[in-house]
Amino acid sequence: MDAEIIAVGSELLTPFRTDTNSLYLTEQINQLGVEVVYKCVVGDDLKRLVAAAQHALFRSEIVIFSGGLGPTEDDLTREAVAEALGLPLHRDEEILAGIERRFAARGWKMSANNAKQADVLEGAVVLPNPNGTAPGQWLSGKFDGRERIVILLPGPPHELKGLFEAECRERLRAKLPPAFLATRVLKVAMLGESHVDARVAPIYKRFADVQTTILAGAGEIQLHFKSRAETMEAAQARVDEAADAVEEELDDTVYSRNGESLEQIVGYWLQMRNATLAVAESCTGGLLGERITSIGGSSRYFAGGAIVYADAVKTELAGVPADMIERHGAVSREVAAALAEGIRYRCEATLGIGITGVAGPSGGTPEKPVGLVFHALASAGGTEVIERNFPGDRKRIRWFATTLALDMVRKKLM
Ligand code: ATP
Ligand code: MG
Repeated sequence: MDAEIIAVGSELLTPFRTDTNSLYLTEQINQLGVEVVYKCVVGDDLKRLVAAAQHALFRSEIVIFSGGLGPTEDDLTREAVAEALGLPLHRDEEILAGIERRFAARGWKMSANNAKQADVLEGAVVLPNPNGTAPGQWLSGKFDGRERIVILLPGPPHELKGLFEAECRERLRAKLPPAFLATRVLKVAMLGESHVDARVAPIYKRFADVQTTILAGAGEIQLHFKSRAETMEAAQARVDEAADAVEEELDDTVYSRNGESLEQIVGYWLQMRNATLAVAESCTGGLLGERITSIGGSSRYFAGGAIVYADAVKTELAGVPADMIERHGAVSREVAAALAEGIRYRCEATLGIGITGVAGPSGGTPEKPVGLVFHALASAGGTEVIERNFPGDRKRIRWFATTLALDMVRKKLM
């Protein structure tokens, strides 16, 4: 069985509002072992809504509508679904009375347009809405000779969630063959997407029952594994087998096996090793410190550090010799190493990180172009420096640099 989601509302076609309801619904539907195979956003327009509904009802067994159940002129979901299914709408007196009571309880008089929220598709089950006036509707049966489940939910996200959880989840489960969905997420740092794909694609192919997705972000790649089976154990076993095979191939570039963030993993390893960390950041301007301290409990392993933007401050706060900066330039292997060593010493930390680079968009030269970053990690055993040329804009370059630095710490402690 496959599902389709139709998000209704002209505001969702503007640059100012995003359809988040379908993300929530997709997660819920997936957990019931059903795939969402199509979704679309349609404005408040009857003809387009009817067409979208007809399309969906033709090709998907479960069709869920979000929004357009309100009282105004442009709330047209009920009318559109009625037309697409060829079913009449009936005004439900009980719902109407309920809406009137809701208004009366607040000392308001119900305006006439609210009455249409009491219109129900013939044969539909009315789903009471604990958080709003418009109830949801559930319809299941044969339409045009096809077995279908049609669900109408209100658009406000808290109403949609409340209604789905209270009224739809178990109703759906009862209609579905037993299916459990197991998922795993592996995360990889600082490898290119095509590189990862080339290495893991041959492995994917061995696991026909496991669905895999690669999501690439700045400096991070997520590998998602999904599998469905009649029991959770069977589904989990399949997912684990595929994920383990991929992990073996990618080896220590996999930093997370269950969705944890790189910041969390670094925190975990620092605590495991009873180590502390200090940072001296130039081009990342504190982003690394912000990422490390976004994890609760980071005070146990993060000493602190300095934002050493100006050359004089590199000398003042991290002890980088002024003549070294003069000789090699602030963006150099030598200065990165001196930053890491200096901040480690001054903060009395187990590990010190130094980052210096050209984040752009200006300030690049032929020898030191925008995107060039030096990352240094100092420890009792010495200092290592990694030089990289990152692509992208200022934001991406800074993110890449902090990710690489975090990954250096992880690899050091692993
Ligand atoms: P009502 O008009 O009674 O509030 P409704 O069912 O008609 O309910 P809409 O008018 O479509 O719902 O939307 C109400 C609010 O919910 C709006 O603020 C809208 O931006 C938000 N909303 C609607 N659909 C979505 C969606 N798919 N994702 C996120 N927010 C949504
Ligand atoms: Mg609307």
